[in-house]
Amino acid sequence: MSTDYSRSLRLAATSSDTNAGDLRALVEAATVVVTVDAAEPQSSVTAEVLLANLRRLPSRLYLAGAAGITTLPTDDLQRITQRLSEIDPDRALHHGMPGDDALHLHIGNRSDVGDIAAIADGHGVRLRRRGLAFPPHAGLATGLGAVVTAAALTGEAFKAIVPVAANRHRTVDELDFCPVTLEAPCAPAQVPSLDRVALIGGGAIGTAIALILRALNAAGDLIIVDPQTFDAPNVTTYSLGSCADAAAALAKVDLLARELPDIQVRGIQGTAHDLILAIDNNVVPMPRVVFGGVDSIDARHEIASLHAALTLDGSTGGDTGTRVGLAEATPTGPCLRCYYPAAPVTSNTVERQLAEKTGLPLARIAAGDLLTDDDLTDLDPQHRAALADHVGKPICGLGRALGLTGTDSEFAPSAAFVAQQAAALVVGAWIRRSGDPGLHLRDIEYDALFGPVSGMVQPRRARPGCRCQTDAALIARVRQVRQQ
Ligand SMILES: [Zn+2]
Repeated sequence: MSTDYSRSLRLAATSSDTNAGDLRALVEAATVVVTVDAAEPQSSVTAEVLLANLRRLPSRLYLAGAAGITTLPTDDLQRITQRLSEIDPDRALHHGMPGDDALHLHIGNRSDVGDIAAIADGHGVRLRRRGLAFPPHAGLATGLGAVVTAAALTGEAFKAIVPVAANRHRTVDELDFCPVTLEAPCAPAQVPSLDRVALIGGGAIGTAIALILRALNAAGDLIIVDPQTFDAPNVTTYSLGSCADAAAALAKVDLLARELPDIQVRGIQGTAHDLILAIDNNVVPMPRVVFGGVDSIDARHEIASLHAALTLDGSTGGDTGTRVGLAEATPTGPCLRCYYPAAPVTSNTVERQLAEKTGLPLARIAAGDLLTDDDLTDLDPQHRAALADHVGKPICGLGRALGLTGTDSEFAPSAAFVAQQAAALVVGAWIRRSGDPGLHLRDIEYDALFGPVSGMVQPRRARPGCRCQTDAALIARVRQVRQQ
């Protein structure tokens, strides 16, 4: 099975004025070389994530040494080579320095070495274009810093490889950014242990959150919730997973559990609704913190119904799929319904198409689980005939079985380096708030092709009339029962 670049190229096409066919030729003709100063902290992890991100585009990729720079140990090179071959077994990682027309990315603090250089510092990144001096830094970095650095370098490379439209990006010459403080990197705050934390959504953002947790050596327990299996197009848009995983149609919860060997993972192959059932049946404890990585308003409303003490909801989207966001929500407000009041009536999700095509009520489709004979009794004969063969099968699989994939406007492809920035905001907020849970709640949004900007943070209050306000007493009682 050859690697499917359709989604990463589609994201690229939406950001550029070039048609998809020409774009593919341009991206395939581009050459990127990466040099790594192995003496810098987290340089090996940064290199692995950066090269894997670059491998998710069909460009030519080189890893080279440079004069006066410590090279990566052989073990690290083997690990990185292995990882890239899992994403695309047919495109080799070349070694050595290519011709002058290559884009040169350098992991290190010497801005005379590459076109763009960056290092992890604390939980964040310092990035400079050629000739711009790096400020002093602590020389101490975390895995979160490594992923943020790799994502930032990939973003700059993306703008160089893809002819991104002038009004859809900004060339970043200097970047000093920490996803915990949203300011310049500083001595890294301590990473809490995972205690009653749930990750809901194992997609582009969920795999990026897992990548960051692993890079941080995070330990403890984590509930992971996702209904789907890992598919071929996910290889080039997610931060974890291989072509072999796609061929095996591995459940995303199982993939994440495998990638987090140092964390006690409890997987639930379902949605937030199934997590609520598991809590109410005392199968899993009520999570205190939820990391949200889902991609629809309905799924966010399911998460809101959990009423966890803190929800950190990551998002990607916008016209070009390059906007990243974080919504910090609590049961007393703002809740996720305050942020996402309701699905627009014009939206045509798979669930809505499914309701139209089958006659099943939307609430029944949202609830999931298995289709029963009872579900068919109230349907008209034509709908009943269409569904008869699916009795006993999961309702969530019906959309795919009936060939429904959502409309184009609904489906916004994302890229791993974009989702990694949303995930960094989620994990950064978790670290920040664990040090001071009383901090005000924030709504953060910026475009990954512009980079973090001033004004990207808005304080948030509850929306008057939202359920978290009108049903406050009921929600408090539900929370009390679930926490017992
Ligand atoms: Zn609310």
